[in-house]
Parts: sequence; C-alpha cells; structure tokens
Amino acid sequence: PESDTIVSVQGLHVSYGRVQAVRDISFDVPAGAVVTLVGANGAGKTTVLNAVAGLVKPRAGTVLYRGRDVTRWPAHKLVAAGMVLVPEGRQILGTLTVAENLQLGGWRRRKASAAAIDEMYERFPVLAERRNLRAGSLSGGEQQMLAIARAMVARPQVILMDEPSMGLAPKMVDEIFGVIETVRSSGVTVVLVEQNARRALRAADTGYVLETGTLAHSGPAARLLKDPRVVQAYLGVE
Ligand code: ATP
Repeated sequence: PESDTIVSVQGLHVSYGRVQAVRDISFDVPAGAVVTLVGANGAGKTTVLNAVAGLVKPRAGTVLYRGRDVTRWPAHKLVAAGMVLVPEGRQILGTLTVAENLQLGGWRRRKASAAAIDEMYERFPVLAERRNLRAGSLSGGEQQMLAIARAMVARPQVILMDEPSMGLAPKMVDEIFGVIETVRSSGVTVVLVEQNARRALRAADTGYVLETGTLAHSGPAARLLKDPRVVQAYLGVE
C-alpha cells in the first residue's frame, strides 16, 4: 500500500459456514478520503465492513490499519486505536436521551469526551436542541445523525458506515450525505457501504463495486459514475 494509505485490505475471504460471502477482495483507503463499497443486496458489503471492524473473522486475507496487521484484533481494540463502526440500523439506544447516547461514544475517556460532545452539538444543532429527549423519539434521519455523532465522540481516524441512508426519506438522505461531508471535512476517513450507489459515488473519491462477493469494478468515483457497465447495472436513469 502507498504511504498515505490508512486502511488496506488484501485478499479478504469470509465464509459463513459453507456460504462464501466474500472472495479475494482487496482495496486501499487513503487517509482523509471517502471510499465507498456499493453493490446489490447480499453482494457482501456488510461482510467486508464487519471484517474490517473486527466483528467477523476472515477465513483468509489481511487488514492493515496504519501499517499494522489488525486482522484478528477484536472490535473494541480497533475502536481504541481509532477505527469505529456505525452499524446498519443505527443501533442507538432509544430509551436513553440524545445526550446519554453521545456519552456512550466517549466511555473510554470521560473528560475528553465532554469537549467532543460539545463539538457535536455545534456541528449538529438539531442534536443540541433535542439533547434531553429520548433518542427513540427522533426521526430516522436524526437517529442516523446521532449514531454518526456518537462515533465521532470517540475521535476516530476512520469511520466505517454501513448503509447510513437506508430507510430514510429523500430529504433525510440529503441530510445524511451532508453529515458524511461534515465528517470528511473534519479530517476523518470514511468507508461507506451503500445500496444507494449514485449518491454514494457522488460523495466518494474512490468506489468499489461488489458483485456476489467479488470486486467487479473499481476506480475513481467520478469515473464509475460514467462507466456504462456500472450505470446500466447500478445507476439506471436518473
Ligand atoms: P445487505 O445490503 O443486504 O447488507 P450486503 O452486500 O451487505 O447486503 P452481506 O450482508 O455482507 O451483503 O451478505 C453477503 C452474503 O453472505 C449473502 O449471501 C448473505 O446471505 C450471507 N450472509 C451474511 N451474513 C450471514 C450470516 N450471519 N450467516 C450466513 N450467511 C450470511
């Protein structure tokens, strides 16, 4: 991998029993970039992300994070090292308040996290307004914003996001892609898994298209957006 590469995945294979979910996937994530993995339902995107996050054990392959082999590190150790997953379905705690959810993001370093939480309130005023409300009372988009803000409280270097726009109304999808831009502009590297390929590629520098567990296409996102094979299979007419 090149020197500015923050995450490098090499020859990743993941199986669930006899189901081979991911076969020989390799990609590099430059520091500060937004890299997206797109593809149909079941193509293996979540599996790749979970393998990078330490939540599923690969059958073969290597994950390098800042040049270190972290392939078999447990998720909590990766979080401590600066790589945080925002899982599919958001996983915020609905009966806790917005503030309490943000505090959970900083459980490792309570003092430092107070400042990080204030920063999140500045960046996302909606969360500040709703800080004492139960998180479950927020809209889907606000809950996703909260999930991302909670990840940011840990002051990560890399955020892995699994389908952040899933199930959101179009206006909220715009909002969440705005949040992703905010995350990137604060210097955090983003690995974005999305079924909404067009939006994801527009937000990304580099894209990887997965088909049934393998890499079908990859390259600069702007190029993939114009690649007739990608347009036909994943983008369609606008
Ligand atoms: P989605 O967008 O629906 O999450 P995906 O592209 O992220 O799709 P994965 O969820 O990674 O795809 O699934 C890849 C393949 O692995 C699919 O065939 C799926 O059925 C299978 N799979 C995923 N999780 C498991 C599991 N826990 N046990 C068995 N098979 C699984």
